[in-house]
Amino acid sequence: MRLYPNRILRKKAARASRRDAEELYGKLVAEMINYEGIGLAAPQVGIDKSIAVISDKYFDNLDRPLLLLNPRVVKKSGSQSIEEACLSVKGVSRKIKRALQIEVETGPDDDRKIIEASGLLAIVMQHEIDHLNGIVFVDRAPFPARCWLRLKAKINKKKKESESGCD
Ligand SMILES: [Zn+2]
Repeated sequence: MRLYPNRILRKKAARASRRDAEELYGKLVAEMINYEGIGLAAPQVGIDKSIAVISDKYFDNLDRPLLLLNPRVVKKSGSQSIEEACLSVKGVSRKIKRALQIEVETGPDDDRKIIEASGLLAIVMQHEIDHLNGIVFVDRAPFPARCWLRLKAKINKKKKESESGCD
């Protein structure tokens, strides 16, 4: 897992092809299950491609993990917030204001589709799409909380590295 402030979490992910999706979907789903995430974006595991997956475990309307391929929010309305956390931002959480309902365009270039989502699924989709644009959830916190959360995440990453270091 790449941890904030790793640079890959800060860049816009490269456009992905249908073939990239076929190669990476299973791998990303396996990583997501392994880390017990509700969603996972490719850059979080070091892959510079605009692909993310969302677990079907928490959503009755999904019959398998959802694939987002070069996703783009095309419409949003309303607002909601829940306490968010992220596998890549160590040991911090914070309520983040998000749209309540969204429409997301996703898919390979020759087969783009619109997915509508609301509630928790809309939050997770916005969180993962942010990752593909180089944004982590703490960036959306207001000042000065934003700075404090970033600092804490950096300290937590250092702590984790010094615990697991063997030299
Ligand atoms: Zn995240």
